[in-house]
Amino acid sequence: MTKRIFRSILLTAVLALLLTSALLVGTLYRVYETRISAELRMEAEYIVRALDMTQDDLGYFAELSSTNRVTLIAPDGSVLYDSNADETRMDNHAQRPEVQSAWETGTGESTRYSDTLSEVTLYHARRTIEGNVLRIASTRSSVLGIFLNVAPQILVMLLMVASLSLLIARFASRQIVQPINELNLDDPLENEVYDELAPLMTRMDKQHAQIRQQMRDLSKAHADLNAIMANMREGLVLVDRENKILSINGSAAAIFSAETASVVGRDVLTLCRDAAVLEIVKAAQTGFSDDALLPLNGNTYRLFASPVLREKKVRGVVLLVLDISAQYAAEASRREFTANVSHELKTPLTSISGYAEIIETGIAKPADVPMFAGKIRTEAKRLVALVNDILELSRLDEKQGLGEKEPIALLPMLHMLVEDFRPMAWEKEIVLTMDGEESVVKGYPMLLRELFTNLIDNAIKYTPEGGSVQVRLSQEEGRICCTVKDTGIGIPKEHQAHVFERFYRVDKSHSKQTGGTGLGLAIVKHAAQVHQAQVELESQPGEGTTVSVLFH
Ligand code: ATP
Ligand code: MG
Repeated sequence: MTKRIFRSILLTAVLALLLTSALLVGTLYRVYETRISAELRMEAEYIVRALDMTQDDLGYFAELSSTNRVTLIAPDGSVLYDSNADETRMDNHAQRPEVQSAWETGTGESTRYSDTLSEVTLYHARRTIEGNVLRIASTRSSVLGIFLNVAPQILVMLLMVASLSLLIARFASRQIVQPINELNLDDPLENEVYDELAPLMTRMDKQHAQIRQQMRDLSKAHADLNAIMANMREGLVLVDRENKILSINGSAAAIFSAETASVVGRDVLTLCRDAAVLEIVKAAQTGFSDDALLPLNGNTYRLFASPVLREKKVRGVVLLVLDISAQYAAEASRREFTANVSHELKTPLTSISGYAEIIETGIAKPADVPMFAGKIRTEAKRLVALVNDILELSRLDEKQGLGEKEPIALLPMLHMLVEDFRPMAWEKEIVLTMDGEESVVKGYPMLLRELFTNLIDNAIKYTPEGGSVQVRLSQEEGRICCTVKDTGIGIPKEHQAHVFERFYRVDKSHSKQTGGTGLGLAIVKHAAQVHQAQVELESQPGEGTTVSVLFH
């Protein structure tokens, strides 16, 4: 800045100095030249008059003292007299313009420069009475000569001008730059600046406001994105083209048992070494979306890898990890259920067709026919019960045909159910009791009846003769609780978690004898779920089982 200002000031000053010098010298020179011409004219006039009066021209010249050069030229051009040189050696002057003009008009003037142009000679010529021409010449420095004469002074002045320019430039640039250096850029309008800077400050303030707003928008968008990523149940991993992990959310870190901070920037291999996963990441890096199944820590995940494209080029890969364990298990159990259903239906049907064949072919004695018919009836009954249970379960699965929930008085319902089971208990000499206080829940009567029927049925079924079954309705911590307790064979610990699964029976041979299919507790679990009730099972093999249903 200082340099630029210095250059401009120096240029201006030097130009001004040179122009002024030229103008001054030019003007003065003209004045000087006019005066010299006038002097020459007067001197010529004076000498011509004197020559006119004297006869001895050369004698006059001998006594003449003049600072100027005086020459007398004869009409043929030869020099008769010259104050500065030997006349005999001088050229013929007839062709000199001032001499010619003097012969023609009586006077003549001309100006001639020296070879170096630094000197100029002014000539004034006049015709004398004798017909000669008198010429007076004065040689002076030319404009250029004067310039060359004053050149050292001009040079000194230029140096002075240059130093002054430098000082002024330094001062001016400090005046300009200092306020700029001291600007408070955080609050431009607070600065006290010279007028020329004010529009800049206003613009800066406006841009500041814009930038602040954009930063706010940007950080909000960033925070939103972070919040979404952090709160996503699904795992999200961003991978670049070189397989480096750019970002990973909490869910993904938890799924892969990794620490977010320690895996960012590292290879995707540090997260997962599964070949299928690496395959889909690779596919996405070449621009193709793909998905893979990943069994991990007892759970099942589905991973989707998609390319991140910008300007039609793959910049990275988004890996989405979904926990599909529940769906996967449901799918598996559905498959298992279908297989089980077919098997369970086949067993009684095979028995029925076997007994029927015995009767049909006459292998059975007429006396045994009622016995086989009874067996057919038992199997058919089992089949009907099974089909009913399957229908019930699928109805519960679909949550269809349940109707509206209604308040249900549990005590009378349980009393009635217990009475229904009394003959069965009596047959096995089991003491069946029922007690409790009145409790009302909102629910589906049919479904609740089904639920308790299954629990009481199991209790009696799996309790040996002489045992006891106790049905109790109570309040526990403000919740309605229905307990069915027996002194039966109990369920071993390892089976307890499975007895609520469809078709699960602890002892298949025993269940077969008792006609069970393993759907009862599955219906209990479903029916309880529909009522948002909790089912708890406590059992000791050989001592008995207690199943509690807790309503909210
Ligand atoms: P059903 O479909 O006819 O009820 P099930 O009684 O065999 O057949 P679940 O009621 O689902 O089927 O019971 C599953 C299994 O759990 C039974 O086979 C039995 O082994 C065990 N179980 C259920 N309740 C009891 C209980 N009170 N005491 C001992 N074992 C039980
Ligand atoms: Mg049962």
